[in-house]
Amino acid sequence: MSAFDKLFTQQEPISELAIQKAIMVMESGRLHRYNSAAGEPTETDLLEQEFADYLGSRYCLACTSGGFSLQIALRSVGVQPSDVVLSNGFTLAPVPGAIHNVGGHVVLVETAKDYTIDLDDLCKKAEESGARFLLLSHMRGHIANMDSIMEICERYRLCLIEDCAHTLGAQWDGQQSGAFGQVSCFSTQTYKHLNSGEGGLLITDDEVVMAKAIMYSGSYMHYHRHLAAPAPSVFEQIRLETPNFSGRMDNLRAAVLRPQLEVLDQKCHNWNKLYGVLDTKLRQVKDIWLPPRSEKESFVGSSIQFSLLTKSPHEIETFVKKCADKGVTISWFGANEPKGYTSRYDSWQYISNLNDLPKTRQILSTMCDMRIPLTFTQEDCVTIASIIADTLKLV
Ligand SMILES: *Cc1c(COP(=O)(O)O)cnc(C)c1O
Repeated sequence: MSAFDKLFTQQEPISELAIQKAIMVMESGRLHRYNSAAGEPTETDLLEQEFADYLGSRYCLACTSGGFSLQIALRSVGVQPSDVVLSNGFTLAPVPGAIHNVGGHVVLVETAKDYTIDLDDLCKKAEESGARFLLLSHMRGHIANMDSIMEICERYRLCLIEDCAHTLGAQWDGQQSGAFGQVSCFSTQTYKHLNSGEGGLLITDDEVVMAKAIMYSGSYMHYHRHLAAPAPSVFEQIRLETPNFSGRMDNLRAAVLRPQLEVLDQKCHNWNKLYGVLDTKLRQVKDIWLPPRSEKESFVGSSIQFSLLTKSPHEIETFVKKCADKGVTISWFGANEPKGYTSRYDSWQYISNLNDLPKTRQILSTMCDMRIPLTFTQEDCVTIASIIADTLKLV
């Protein structure tokens, strides 16, 4: 078996059109989002308008990162220091980090067998903690049953904040991921579905929430220039009591993102073709388990997760290492030490009274994760799947 030699970290290049747009911004010298001639919308203003249109939301704000957008989303819906915020035990580090940043108390919820949030544990923790907020992370693109989530949020009066870092372009029962939360956040960091290096987008239909978010992002009282924002009168109520945390997006990144948004659906389609090849091949391999997915879920297969239910931690470590030797980069969520982008909840030791999650630890102990960059072809995916199958036989 020859080794696979493409890089799992190699995304597609930025298109010629996006490069041209970026050059135009640089030639103009107007990189700051509020630096434009009178009455002229900037690339950032236009990106927000187009993103809101894409998601069917009323308002949108572009900021410096996905993590920053989560933080100001929590502040904008009213999370106060020591308020309990429920969130997934299986998620990425910036999610509990955002809750910690606003002084919220993180209560992590168990993980179901299909990698989504455990609904029974969610009810239990909502009941026990009296939480008013749920920061729901659609981790690695796995969408929980949103019908049940909405019902639970109603029952326990939870304000829902969606973390859609991996679900831009995905849907539940025909409704866009991000359309369920009171406020929802997206990331345009290089490994997500849009790439500006760093960046975050926040959407909401609530005018006061958006006015606050814009003030928090650092509007220098230029809020009236925003296109995807409520009327200036809404800002009058909150503008002097809302601090400036300075986390605006700049025009250069917005210029690079706008042409990408136009081809996003095509990109999602391409991801799903690659995912489909891997999914079909890997499901045929003895010892590999992939979760069933609801018919209501239209996900974007920009990465794939599977479990090696019959393998020990030592065997999985060996498997990951042998795959790496053949050029196939797989992460394992069960490792005791956080590594790269993969960390387990028990390494977030800054969380006070960090609750134990035995079910999540059990599920993560056999869970593997692999990126699917669009620089791969369907033939590459066939090759990768057979390397995985062959390697598994050796451990
Ligand atoms: C990437 C990501 C974020 C936000 O990350 P940034 O690097 O701050 O843009 C949030 N949640 C999840 C699950 C992510 O994967």
